Amino acid sequence: MNDVAAVPGGSAGPVAPQAVPGWRHVYSGKVRDLYVPDDDTSAEASQTVLVVASDRISAYDHVLSTPVPDKGRILTALSTWWFERLTDLVPNHVVSLDVPAVVAGRAMVCRRLEMYPVECVARGYLTGSGLVEYRAGGVVCGVPLPPGLEDGSRLPEPIFTPATKAELGEHDENVTFEQVAATIGADDASRLRVLTLAVYRRAEELARERGIVLADTKLEFGRDAAGAVVLGDEVLTPDSSRFWPADGWRPGRAQPSFDKQYVRDWLTSPESGWDRASDVPPPPLPDDVVERTRARYVEAYERLTGRTFA
Ligand code: ATP
Ligand code: MG
Repeated sequence: MNDVAAVPGGSAGPVAPQAVPGWRHVYSGKVRDLYVPDDDTSAEASQTVLVVASDRISAYDHVLSTPVPDKGRILTALSTWWFERLTDLVPNHVVSLDVPAVVAGRAMVCRRLEMYPVECVARGYLTGSGLVEYRAGGVVCGVPLPPGLEDGSRLPEPIFTPATKAELGEHDENVTFEQVAATIGADDASRLRVLTLAVYRRAEELARERGIVLADTKLEFGRDAAGAVVLGDEVLTPDSSRFWPADGWRPGRAQPSFDKQYVRDWLTSPESGWDRASDVPPPPLPDDVVERTRARYVEAYERLTGRTFA
């Protein structure tokens, strides 16, 4: 979180943050809005933040002008479900889900953290920016990998592949463990690596039991007022992770996935008329793309949790 309030967009994102009684808006990322208590004077209030997940969706580093209905509620429900299953590995920032009615179901009262400026990524499978790096030099974020791997290959063991947090509209950049250590110190870097891999292993196993391949995931950690390392942000959602239906997994091609695949496919199809290389914001999404994307998010939630999304 930056000190200054940022407004999502740069492209066509919605502008005015929603008013939430008792809370003051301080920051908006691409998807989430952060608020602090109106009366911030007590020690407790000054260590509290309300994290609100909107229905905004981003693709290709743009916040799209078309929201996906229920996305904020799905991401929040899935994150909290995972947080509960990770508490023995790492403390998380959730304090309470008792939030004002206007943001019910898509907000969490959280411990305010000083976030590490590192996207903590674990990969158990090779694709995306990892695959690009591997093809160029056989390593990902400084981690050497065996020859012969393809798009979607399972790695011999999960690896920590951190990235720097980019400014709005910019790409995150893969970095080595040594670069992270140089930024936040070797002890904290080691700590984040151990925690990230532990969370990934736990989640990968759980997802696999439910027929989903957790190819990779991105976590964000911070320190609380007492100095404890705490898992923050959202966890193990289709926005922060790659989920592939296990029965469709076949290395050697792009895998079907439970995320914004329909959005990306449509944006890069001739039908959208959009040029990804241009500075022009993407066009609004057609209803069927929105509906199918929503259905993918719901399906990921329902398959993983075994619950029905209502
Ligand atoms: P950016 O960090 O550049 O805003 P983003 O577009 O992914 O990235 P969102 O995920 O939409 O941002 O917004 C969430 C923001 O809230 C992130 O900056 C994240 O680091 C921050 N954040 C998450 N949990 C906490 C917390 N407990 N305390 C303080 N900041 C938090
Ligand atoms: Mg984020």
